[in-house]
Amino acid sequence: MKFVDYYGDDRLRHKIVYNKNSYSECIYCGKQANTREHIPSRVFLSKPYPSNLAIVPACVKCNNSFSNDELFLSILIEKLKIKHFGQNYVLSEEADRRIKQNEKLAHMIDAAIENERLDEFNKKISRVIFKLAIGHSVYELSEGYCIEDGTVKYSFLNHLSAEEVDEFSLPFNLNGQLFPEIGSRVYERILFLEVNFAAASDPEQLTAPLVLLDWVDVQEKRYSYTSYRFGDEIVVKMIINEFLYAQVILNVEVST
Ligand SMILES: [Zn+2]
Repeated sequence: MKFVDYYGDDRLRHKIVYNKNSYSECIYCGKQANTREHIPSRVFLSKPYPSNLAIVPACVKCNNSFSNDELFLSILIEKLKIKHFGQNYVLSEEADRRIKQNEKLAHMIDAAIENERLDEFNKKISRVIFKLAIGHSVYELSEGYCIEDGTVKYSFLNHLSAEEVDEFSLPFNLNGQLFPEIGSRVYERILFLEVNFAAASDPEQLTAPLVLLDWVDVQEKRYSYTSYRFGDEIVVKMIINEFLYAQVILNVEVST
C-alpha cells in the first residue's frame, strides 16, 4: 500500500474521517471500511469516557485484529505500574475489572514481567503503537493515510530518567516548519508565544514569535498525544497511562 501525498482540498479527507455516516476506506489497509473505531480505543481510558473521542473508518478485519493486542498492552502497563509503584498504586475500577476478566492473560503477563521476558512482546507492542499513530495522524493532520513504513520507539517509565520524561513531554517547536493544510485539526493546537530578546547593546527589545504545538489530552493522566509533519516525516508521540512513552516516525512518500 502506497501513501498518496495529499496536497488537495481537505474537504474530501474530512468527510472520510469525520462524517459518521460515510463509510469509506479503512485507514489501515485501504480496503472498504464498514466499521468506525475510536482512536484511542477505550481500553486505554477510564470512565467517564470522553464524549468526543476521535472516530476513524476501518474494515472489520483491522478493527478486530487489534483489539486483543490493545487489551494485552493496557493490562501490561497496569501490571508494570503495580510493580513500579508498589502499594502506592491504585488500579482504576475498569483496570481492575479488566484484569479479573482476563485472568489467564494477566497471569501470562505477570510471569513475563517476573522472568524479564518482555522483549518477546516487542513486536506486538510496536504494532499497537504504530496503529494508534496512524489513527492520530489521520485525524489530526488529515495525513498519514495507509502508511506502512515507519519506526516505533517506546520506553516504559521505569526505564526513563526524569529528564528524559521532561524532554519527551515538550511541545513540538514549529519555528521554520511548513504549516499543514488549512483546516486540519492541528491548527487548533498551534500556539504563538511572544518572546522578548533583550540585547545588551540595544535598549530596544526585539520580539519574535515562538511557535509551539500543544499536546492533545484525550483524558488527563490516561492518554495524550501529539502529531506533526516535519518534511517527509510525520512524527507522532504518545503518553499512555503516564507510563508508556512512545514515538512513531511515519515515512511519507512524496509523490512528484
Ligand atoms: Zn483494514
